[in-house]
Amino acid sequence: MSGFELYTEQLSRPAIVIHGGAGNYLETTTKSDRMERGRVLLDSAYGGMASLGVEGARAAVLTSVMAMESDVRFNAGLGSKLQRDGIVRVSAALMSGTDLRLSAVYNVHGCLHPSELANILQDRGDRNLDGQGAAELMAAMGIEAVDLRTPQTIERWRSLMETGEEADMEAAIGDSGLKGLQRARAVGLDVPENMKDMPPEGERYGTVGAVAVGSDGDLWACTSTGGRGHEQPGRVSDTPTPAGTYACPRVAISATGFGEQIMELNITGRIATRILDGKTLHESLEQTFHEVVDHQGAMGVIAITDDGRAGYAYSTAACGVAWVDSAGRTHIDPHGRSESS
Ligand code: ASP
Repeated sequence: MSGFELYTEQLSRPAIVIHGGAGNYLETTTKSDRMERGRVLLDSAYGGMASLGVEGARAAVLTSVMAMESDVRFNAGLGSKLQRDGIVRVSAALMSGTDLRLSAVYNVHGCLHPSELANILQDRGDRNLDGQGAAELMAAMGIEAVDLRTPQTIERWRSLMETGEEADMEAAIGDSGLKGLQRARAVGLDVPENMKDMPPEGERYGTVGAVAVGSDGDLWACTSTGGRGHEQPGRVSDTPTPAGTYACPRVAISATGFGEQIMELNITGRIATRILDGKTLHESLEQTFHEVVDHQGAMGVIAITDDGRAGYAYSTAACGVAWVDSAGRTHIDPHGRSESS
């Protein structure tokens, strides 16, 4: 094997492609977990597709990403990992290809839908806000803060802390994960009734993202993450940067994986530049992922072009991907399908 997986296909516009994170979860999940993950991704893609027909590509990427932010299985919104101090801080970006306009929030505390904040910022002058600016925006918009920790993420954080790191555990877990679940239910989320029904850490997947093309070729990209997990507070993920979320008039791309490497390689920029210079999506992904492997990179991307060519590539063991187009074509990545391991 070349060290990465790559697949592209011609779709009919409008179309949407989504991901649920790149990772190495094959050993910590069962085949049926992964097939369930495949079904959940396809449902989220269908949700985006329903918006796409009515409201266009911008609404479509937001609909899919917000659905995954509300699902505890993904490392975004409700399912986000904890940082080293036991706090969840989320990040998200939205980019328009036609207008070359990026809006993003970095490390926001207590925000269930950071993609919603990126959407509000899309139409403003100051479009990229840090955690403090985003908290002020939430207050101004009347968006309620939610405790995003779950018993599982607290437990995982606690066991990581026991392996040597120091932190003010009491301050961090004083507000219990159960309260977080109760608040999440109070704002209408479909979270399990019983804590025992929460997916164990091993069954959790990654960062989420969506790219869509409208019937007129309009392109949008959106990505949302809880970060790498257990990182130093203040660490910046690639997700809200143009290296992690990018759209131009020819292609929209969303990345996932090891954020430091995604930024070092400027992964989405490389792919987009190659396409703008005349390479096909397949050629651009192939050349770029050879470079990812040379850099020992662990990441995945999804992409869609203005003429409806969709694709993904990943150098990790797995990457959850699904797509739907206007001709009724659907796709789920190999690990989320029944016929493979
Ligand atoms: N890219 C994210 C980060 O480094 C994590 C991920 O995609 O899994 O924060």
